[in-house]
Amino acid sequence: MKLCRTRDGRIGLVGPAGAVDVTSALGVLPSARYPYPTQDALVANLDMLRPLFAEIARTGAMIEPGTPLDSPIANPGKLVAAPVNYQRHLDEVREQADLHHNNAAHMRQIQEIGLFLKAGSSLIGPGEPVRIVSDRRVDHEIELAVVIGRGGKDIPAARALEHVAGYTIGLDMTVRGPEDRSFRKSLDTFTVLGPWLVTTDEIPDPGALALELRVNDTVRQQANTRDLVLDVPALIAFASSYYTLHPGDVILTGTPEGVGPVQPGDVIDARIEGLGSMRVDVVAFSAAQEVLNG
Ligand code: MN
Repeated sequence: MKLCRTRDGRIGLVGPAGAVDVTSALGVLPSARYPYPTQDALVANLDMLRPLFAEIARTGAMIEPGTPLDSPIANPGKLVAAPVNYQRHLDEVREQADLHHNNAAHMRQIQEIGLFLKAGSSLIGPGEPVRIVSDRRVDHEIELAVVIGRGGKDIPAARALEHVAGYTIGLDMTVRGPEDRSFRKSLDTFTVLGPWLVTTDEIPDPGALALELRVNDTVRQQANTRDLVLDVPALIAFASSYYTLHPGDVILTGTPEGVGPVQPGDVIDARIEGLGSMRVDVVAFSAAQEVLNG
């Protein structure tokens, strides 16, 4: 099942002919009162919603083609990210040490440096442009994004995939520089998820998916998730040994080699096997520039 979310708040069940509006199924979601649960209600109730989505889709109206899409996950409790999780990307970071300000912490293996968190306010979908600071280098990073379906703590790798709701394409946009990762990667619009959530029944093995990112139709990144240092089950085990995971939490699994800068006016095309593709515009964002320049 492929589920998209439009910028005006509709949920679409994506099929070969397009997306059908299945928003009315959300009426069965349990009502919540303050303080609201810190999880994504759609993902937490996906098993209940799934047959309703299918039923409504049989007679529902099509969502107009080209409708701008938001992140398929509306309310992730946290965005967990793997820093360097492909060996060839680590090699590339070590070869370009000056670009990383010779920060030794950027050049060690994931098992030593752990994970980091991105701000939820950085999250957008492909229907909104990435806004970049024009006088700092901003790089693209394509990543397989894992959406947690069933929460847990200390989840063993052997059972980790049972805790996954699905997968989507992630862009972990990054200002290069000496500051902390969470600072440089949490600017507004610096986490893009899309174009839709693909549930696990369509992706039985997340460990053999081809990824490709183009900028203005030039291939920049091309890899396969089989080359992950910590694969999806190992990452879930690692993350959940430190953080309790909740439905809707997202784990960005790290980017492969080939990261490079983007400029205002660029168009990023990101695709992952089995998940589809998305095009994301890059525009200038002058307000944040002044803040970063101090
Ligand atoms: Mn990344």
